[in-house]
Amino acid sequence: MTKFVYDFAEGNRDLKDLLGGKGANLAEMTNIGLPVPPGFTITTEACQEYLANGHEPASLQQEIDEHLAALEAQMGKKLGDAADPLLVSVRSGAKFSMPGMMDTVLNIGLTDESVIGLGDNRFAWDSYRRLIQMFGKTVCGVPGEDFEHALEELKRIRSTEDDLDLDAADLKKLVGTFKDIFREHTKQDFPQDPRQQLADAIHAVFDSWNSDRAVLYRRQERIPADLGTAVNICSMVFGNLGSDSGTGVAFTRDPGSGVRGVYGDYLVNAQGEDVVAGIRNTVPLQDLQQIDKNSYDQLMDIMTTLENHYRDLCDIEFTIERGKLWMLQTRVGKRTAAAAFVIATQLVDEGMIDLDEALQRVTGAQLAMLMFPRFDGSTNAERLGKGMNASPGAAVGKAVFDSYTAVKWSRSGEKVILVRRETNPDDLNGMIAAEGILTSRGGKTSHAAVVARGMGKTCVCGAEELDVDTKRRRLVAPNGVVIEEGDVISIDGSSGVVYKGSVPVVPSPVVEYFEGNVDLSDDLVRAVDRLMKHADDARRLGVRSNADTPEDAERARRFGAQGIGLCRTEHMFLGERRQHVERLILADGDTERAEALETLLPLQRDDFVGIFAAMDGLPVTVRLLDPPLHEFLPDITELSVRVALAEARGEKHENDLRLLQAVHKLHEQNPMLGLRGVRLGLVIPGLFTMQVRAIAEAAAHRIKSGGDPKVEIMIPLVGAVQELEAVRTDAERVLREVAEETGVVVDALIGTMIELPRAALTAGQIAEAAQFFSFGTNDLTQTVWGFSRDDVEAAFFSAYLEKGIFGVSPFETLDRDGVGRLIRIAVAEGRAARPGLKLGVCGEHGGDPDSVHFFHEVGLDYVSCSPFRVPVARLEAGRAAT
Ligand code: PEP
Ligand code: MG
Repeated sequence: MTKFVYDFAEGNRDLKDLLGGKGANLAEMTNIGLPVPPGFTITTEACQEYLANGHEPASLQQEIDEHLAALEAQMGKKLGDAADPLLVSVRSGAKFSMPGMMDTVLNIGLTDESVIGLGDNRFAWDSYRRLIQMFGKTVCGVPGEDFEHALEELKRIRSTEDDLDLDAADLKKLVGTFKDIFREHTKQDFPQDPRQQLADAIHAVFDSWNSDRAVLYRRQERIPADLGTAVNICSMVFGNLGSDSGTGVAFTRDPGSGVRGVYGDYLVNAQGEDVVAGIRNTVPLQDLQQIDKNSYDQLMDIMTTLENHYRDLCDIEFTIERGKLWMLQTRVGKRTAAAAFVIATQLVDEGMIDLDEALQRVTGAQLAMLMFPRFDGSTNAERLGKGMNASPGAAVGKAVFDSYTAVKWSRSGEKVILVRRETNPDDLNGMIAAEGILTSRGGKTSHAAVVARGMGKTCVCGAEELDVDTKRRRLVAPNGVVIEEGDVISIDGSSGVVYKGSVPVVPSPVVEYFEGNVDLSDDLVRAVDRLMKHADDARRLGVRSNADTPEDAERARRFGAQGIGLCRTEHMFLGERRQHVERLILADGDTERAEALETLLPLQRDDFVGIFAAMDGLPVTVRLLDPPLHEFLPDITELSVRVALAEARGEKHENDLRLLQAVHKLHEQNPMLGLRGVRLGLVIPGLFTMQVRAIAEAAAHRIKSGGDPKVEIMIPLVGAVQELEAVRTDAERVLREVAEETGVVVDALIGTMIELPRAALTAGQIAEAAQFFSFGTNDLTQTVWGFSRDDVEAAFFSAYLEKGIFGVSPFETLDRDGVGRLIRIAVAEGRAARPGLKLGVCGEHGGDPDSVHFFHEVGLDYVSCSPFRVPVARLEAGRAAT
């Protein structure tokens, strides 16, 4: 017969599945001899059966009876006994800690009779009113405010703000009021049978597993819905018996910085929920040494025992009842990102864990948090509003309302924040020039957010409460404050808050470290240094960077990138070069087109020379032009207006007219599924060959100057091997021509992106013509789901996230089941067709911690991500391999 109830002495910490986190740790503490009030745990399996069948398992009641009888015998009291009652607490406790589930009911066993047996004094009546309040609220759904208002009202009548000023008679009266409130809402009297109280509380814990908030939380966190929760029944100890009693929380190390010491809070003469509710002011745990030295010393010993036992920072809840210390809960404690790194390496030094384990104790997400500068937390600057925390960090500067001004002012040495309703590719220069970007529209995958994250630049997006008026060059906050162009604002990309004026910024010592300014006297920097080195030794995955400029390439290299996995060439067609692209598109015949390409060639070549130099000796994957051509042409509406005005004025406008015709011709309903990538290369004669020539000539130039370029040419958006073959034949011809002309042979690899489902499904064929694959998981996610990557965020992702359909956007963390499955197929079939085929990924997912583990698991050779994500990817690749 299944055993559904475990005495605390029967369990241990490895039984979290069965006993939940809280129950398993209570059992563990009991077994290592710590003072835990006796009790027992009802298993998650009992909960599962109760939820599946709508009633308890048949044998459960008998088991509870047996364990309760044993508890009563041990305590020498009976539950709810009129003369000398045993009281118990009932607490939920799932395998994963879950906000949204019922938590605790204290003092079960008190009734109109047993409250007299307990003492008929202030303490007894206070305990009874707490039971009615907690039972009413968590078991029966009585609104908590009703009880709180009644308590406040009584304190008002007694002219006090402190619960402790209420005497036994007051609290007895309050019990009467609370019972009335209970009856009013439940249409029943407060139960006077202690066993019914216990049974109702147990069922309420079971039912809370399926409360709306718990269901939503599980869906978002991907916690399986069928785990169920355990229920802990524990004999009560009292911290509210007088000044020799109290309750507190403690940490074995500082969860903020990791420093060893005494951290926690203590509250004299109180029960546990008083600390959490913040009703009265706590004192620092150190003060306990003066208040009750014996208990303090014992607590310090216990903290050492727990640390040695769990080999990690623990947090603890305890109660002192008339000078006797009791442990009510412990668990491996939450900590800040900085503390996580410091503690992990401290534990290595203390001989508690090895470096492999230390690496598992930190995460890439924590490292990323440590890389952003922050605002000084003590700011009292005026808050203007709040948007989405799109790209973390802290930025201060003068508000500017267009990119031209951003560039102009920053050139003259001003720090600026680019404020726009939304950004588009034309804002790129302004974004580069700005300290940070603020938009009033668009979500976390809007242009501003994605580009800012890529650049490691602070961004707050979608701050809808701010009225951004680019025409009048000002923004208006909801409180009426007006920020004119040139006024200083501060934006916090970690919280989304926007401030008026300049908030002091603290730089990140971790970024300084990656930049090469190593300060090993800083605890955090030393910890990061050690763990990064260990991750690099351990990892199998290479880490490259996405970089389009020599500056980005240099930074990426300093941050540890082992090459460039994606050099997008489209920015090389923007800015002043736009006019040449226009000429290319408008070209009337081969000669005009050739002329336009001739002008672009040396510009491109110089770009590549710079990048190859910055990445000398390391591979550089250059992707040929990808976006649809119309992106390089003027906006259709603006151009139409210009043409119409010129016509009205009778001016010459032949060029604009031709441009407008071209824009119309190139206009597409679904440009992301249109004339882009390899399709462009096949349709615009000479475009890709010009790019290949620029690459080959640049590499030849580098080799002649003693450099060592390692060139990989990548063809985007291939869906069929025939597309690749056609481009590859031309590219190889150009490479041969350049070799003949320069006398230098450039050994370039030619490969493709895998970013369409058809490419993944025919990877075996494509691999015949490709020397490498790089998974473009941005487009692959877009095409597998049928989600437009540019529109979904604003359109419906927030609803999907709210409803728990996604825990996280599939554009942020790779969808393993769908997109991941295609990647597995392509890896297997690609390598089968071409053993040793080089495989990488260059979509945004290359720097996402969870996705890096997937790429390790499927056996890719490298991930490629934006320069600022390189350290994160290195750390996660190391964690995946240990
Ligand atoms: C991709 O699609 O994943 C990719 C890297 O290419 P882009 O984002 O430039 O479309
Ligand atoms: Mg793509």
